[in-house]
Amino acid sequence: MSHDPNCIFCKIVAKKIPARIVHEDEDTIAFEDLNPQAPTHILIVPKKHIADIHSIAESDRELIGHLFLVAKTISSTKGLDKGGYRMVINNGHGAGQTVFHLHLHLLSGRRFTWPPG
Ligand code: 5GP
Ligand code: ZN
Repeated sequence: MSHDPNCIFCKIVAKKIPARIVHEDEDTIAFEDLNPQAPTHILIVPKKHIADIHSIAESDRELIGHLFLVAKTISSTKGLDKGGYRMVINNGHGAGQTVFHLHLHLLSGRRFTWPPG
């Protein structure tokens, strides 16, 4: 599986640095964000190192669908679907991406405004 030794999320996948893991399966891992922006702030991450949306390959089709199904499972398990939640991908520096390993932000537990900041 594609892996970048300098990538912080690859290190979390490899259990080289700790994280509060809320879900793990063969292809994905989900853990609490270190700097939460809402009462619930979970990052859903493919174990494969994919830097950003533009690095997604045709062969990742199933994996990307799986990420959304993991988000659904976590949201249901934690009851987030009742009050609503926001899912965000910051793609590229201009959009605020700071970790270049693809991830879904799952945010819940407060009201969210639109348009986002
Ligand atoms: P981005 O800015 O790329 O959309 O999101 C990166 C997220 O990763 C940020 O919300 C940041 O707080 C989180 N983050 C960065 N380093 C770590 C870490 O070592 N552990 C955890 N759990 N979250 C991290
Ligand atoms: Zn990585």
